Formats: sequence, structure tokens, C-alpha cells
Amino acid sequence: MTLKGSELPIGPMFKSSQLAATTGSWRVKMPVLNREKCNKCLLCWVYCPDGTVSIIDEGITFDLDYCKGCGICAVECPKHAVTMVEEG
Ligand code: SF4
Ligand code: SF4
Repeated sequence: MTLKGSELPIGPMFKSSQLAATTGSWRVKMPVLNREKCNKCLLCWVYCPDGTVSIIDEGITFDLDYCKGCGICAVECPKHAVTMVEEG
């Protein structure tokens, strides 16, 4: 059976831990969450291309072993709750 786009479930197609290799070493900036601004809308979870955003009791968290620092979560966050911070 083939699903049409509108029939696909909303959310990542895979979780970061399903990737063959860790991609976190590619990163030069890491996402940092401001929990006070976050409204738990989960748009970052939907948009993250690496399935790196996980849902936890407190809201969301980033798996830094796999987050490659693309910054899409920060751009898409409607509450400006994610800041990309330089590492190293
Ligand atoms: S998109 Fe922004 S407000 Fe929504 S869950 Fe992610 S960090 Fe929180
Ligand atoms: S920086 Fe990119 S890879 Fe990392 S959590 Fe945000 S969207 Fe995902």
C-alpha cells in the first residue's frame, strides 16, 4: 500500500539514533533552548532534518550526538526559543 502525502503521520520519519553514524562532530554551533519562551508547539521536532529533537516531559531536548547544527529549528521556532551558540 502506498500512502499519499496527506496520509503520512506528522513528525520525523526516523529518530537520530537510527542514523548509521553520529553527525554531531560536523557542528560549529549548537541549539540552546530557552524553556521559558518555549510553548511546546513541536515545530522544531517536525522540521529537524535529522530527527534530533526528542519529546520529553519538560518539552523538547536535542540529541547533540547527532545534531549537525543546521539551525533550522532556530529559524522555524515561532517563539524564538532556540539560539544557535558557537562551540569550541
Ligand atoms: S518550535 Fe520553539 S516553541 Fe515550539 S517546541 Fe520547538 S523550541 Fe519550543
Ligand atoms: S540544529 Fe538542525 S539538526 Fe540540530 S536540532 Fe536544530 S534542526 Fe535539528
